[in-house]
Amino acid sequence: MSASGGYVSGVKKIKIEVSAHHAHLSRKDLDILFGKNYQLKPIKALSQTGQFASKETIKIKTKDGQIDDVRILGPTRPNTQVELSRTECFELKIDPPVLECTCPDKKGGCAQVEIVGPKGKVKRCAAILAHRHIHCDPSSAKKMGLKNKQLVSVKTNGKRSITFHNILVRTRKDFVCRMHLDTDEANAAGIKQGDFGQII
Ligand SMILES: [Zn+2]
Repeated sequence: MSASGGYVSGVKKIKIEVSAHHAHLSRKDLDILFGKNYQLKPIKALSQTGQFASKETIKIKTKDGQIDDVRILGPTRPNTQVELSRTECFELKIDPPVLECTCPDKKGGCAQVEIVGPKGKVKRCAAILAHRHIHCDPSSAKKMGLKNKQLVSVKTNGKRSITFHNILVRTRKDFVCRMHLDTDEANAAGIKQGDFGQII
């Protein structure tokens, strides 16, 4: 699909993708969890350029519970980040903030979890609820009247139609126009992978 494939010009439609729980790992943590210089094995390219789902999964643990088979998305990033749904956080008895990322410049904290891989484990303040967002390349964003870091609302369709607010627009040259929601958000609105919403 082309960069402009995620929306229909004029009506400001945006394709919605649903992100299940997943983790992004730093190089250092990948070494600890899977062994020195371990390379992730891509099994599926994601819509955003260069991003992939890897074969590898990890376990996320707290003293109250654990989630198995949390997929690692590659490539590695500067900071380890575990994105969970709020429902899962109730099971783990943690209360992570809604954040764009665990980047050091982002204030608001995060929740500590233990990350377990086949070769080791680490405790990291890495769990967040992902801030709902739209990825878009700058020229498509311009056509839709969207600006980087703007907050917009998107109305979904169907019997459980919902208008989502506070959706953060992120523009970057290599981005493909997509809106990303987590499973709780998508399930509440009865959304399937690839459904369209309308930016209002
Ligand atoms: Zn995203």
